[in-house]
Amino acid sequence: MRLRNITGSREMIAESAFVVPEAELFDCPGTWHKIFGNDQPIHIEIGMGKGRFIHTMAKDHPRINYIGIEKYSSVLLRAIQKMEEDELPNLKFIRMDAEDIAKVFAPGEVDRIYLNFSDPWPKDRHAKRRLPSREFLARYDLILRPDGQLEFKTDNRELFDFAVEELTPAGWHARELSYDLHHDQRLMEGNVMTEYEEKFSAMGNPICKYIICR
Ligand code: SAM
Repeated sequence: MRLRNITGSREMIAESAFVVPEAELFDCPGTWHKIFGNDQPIHIEIGMGKGRFIHTMAKDHPRINYIGIEKYSSVLLRAIQKMEEDELPNLKFIRMDAEDIAKVFAPGEVDRIYLNFSDPWPKDRHAKRRLPSREFLARYDLILRPDGQLEFKTDNRELFDFAVEELTPAGWHARELSYDLHHDQRLMEGNVMTEYEEKFSAMGNPICKYIICR
């Protein structure tokens, strides 16, 4: 998702109390509980877009700390605006490329990872940029608690098939897997729709989901 570049969005983000300052990010590993001021579990969403999913999750689960990660300032700004309207103590944002994720969290510091409707990067030569690729799974392996899990949803069947094929070589396996989440009553329990999920399911696209662990 790339919104029109909003003039001054980087400056607005730099001033926002909801965003961890970029200059401090690499000092964060091992200090997230201090940043939140409590010992609650930490769940992160990578590529959160405008942040509806993570904002709803944080509101519904006040005993979990959430961190939303987004590459583009103009997109992150929308999530910040939502927080200004409805401030939550257990939600923070980071503007960064997730390639550097292992520099921001200590080993095992994250309890759960969410990927929602990640960019497909359809060209083979860009496969490494896909957030469920084996290269990214290796990064998640470093920061996720040994018994932690990663949840991924998408309507893009090619991307999902790719993601499933990446699991075994990367040392992960699926605990749950559905090619039509919205017709799976059990997996739908507590499902929070993302912006993209609402749009693509309304068009009739089946939504795929897996929950994976090592
Ligand atoms: N998760 C939201 C949803 O389901 O509605 C947004 C989906 S949108 C297709 C993917 C988002 O991931 C975009 O906002 C994009 O900027 C972000 N993104 C893609 N690659 C990223 C990366 N390497 N690091 C951080 N964010 C990334």
